[in-house]
Amino acid sequence: MTTDPIWQPLVEELARRQRAGRKAEFWLRDDDAVDPTPALDRLLDLTGEFAVPVTLAVIPAETDEKLVVRLGTAPHATVAIHGWAHRNHAPEDQKKQELGAHRPRKVVLDDLAGGLSHITGLHGARAVPMLVPPWNRIDAAVVSDLGSIGFAALSVYGPPKPASLAVINSNVDIMDWHGTRGCRDHGLLVQAIIAHLQHAFDDEPVGLLTHHLVHDESAWLFLERLFAVTARTEPCAWRPIRTLIGRSARRGK
Ligand SMILES: [Zn+2]
Repeated sequence: MTTDPIWQPLVEELARRQRAGRKAEFWLRDDDAVDPTPALDRLLDLTGEFAVPVTLAVIPAETDEKLVVRLGTAPHATVAIHGWAHRNHAPEDQKKQELGAHRPRKVVLDDLAGGLSHITGLHGARAVPMLVPPWNRIDAAVVSDLGSIGFAALSVYGPPKPASLAVINSNVDIMDWHGTRGCRDHGLLVQAIIAHLQHAFDDEPVGLLTHHLVHDESAWLFLERLFAVTARTEPCAWRPIRTLIGRSARRGK
């Protein structure tokens, strides 16, 4: 498989799990898609090559039929709703939020209902009623109303909090947003994946978070290596988001 010392700990962790008869589940969320671009082509080609299902969090206000046409040749891609316009409504001294408590809740919910309707109208069965809040932030009161406007799931970042709908979070972000703004160190990412596999509550899958529009070569290389190690390896499984939402619903979460 691989003899790269950076990846060896993951290879060994997967072998341990195989001996124990345990799966290692992953899912891939990629944010900020709007239009077909060379970077999106690269993401779809790479994931397609390794048969990795990808959930694209698409910004409703910015997107149109061009993306629908492009995804017509990417059957492994699913589309989720990335807020409405990815616009910040928080004051300058606060963390960026589109879906915070800075506007009346009804206004935020109307935006989100419009986003769901626009994406579903464009993408039909390829769309999944999952909200991916821009910057992974959303007011708790808005979360409690998401079911009433048609959402079945929410995906933010980090350990999931109890909610009235399925919560399928991402938990390993490959980008170093506060440092180089390129890919994080590959060895640290491998350690983060192993830590999640070992400590995740209830066997929550590893949710890998990517942003194809800003990937440097190191980010693409990381993905390629990760897919090479995992995608064709027992006991790994890259799950489509629908599978995870369905399972979460059956568990009553
Ligand atoms: Zn975003």
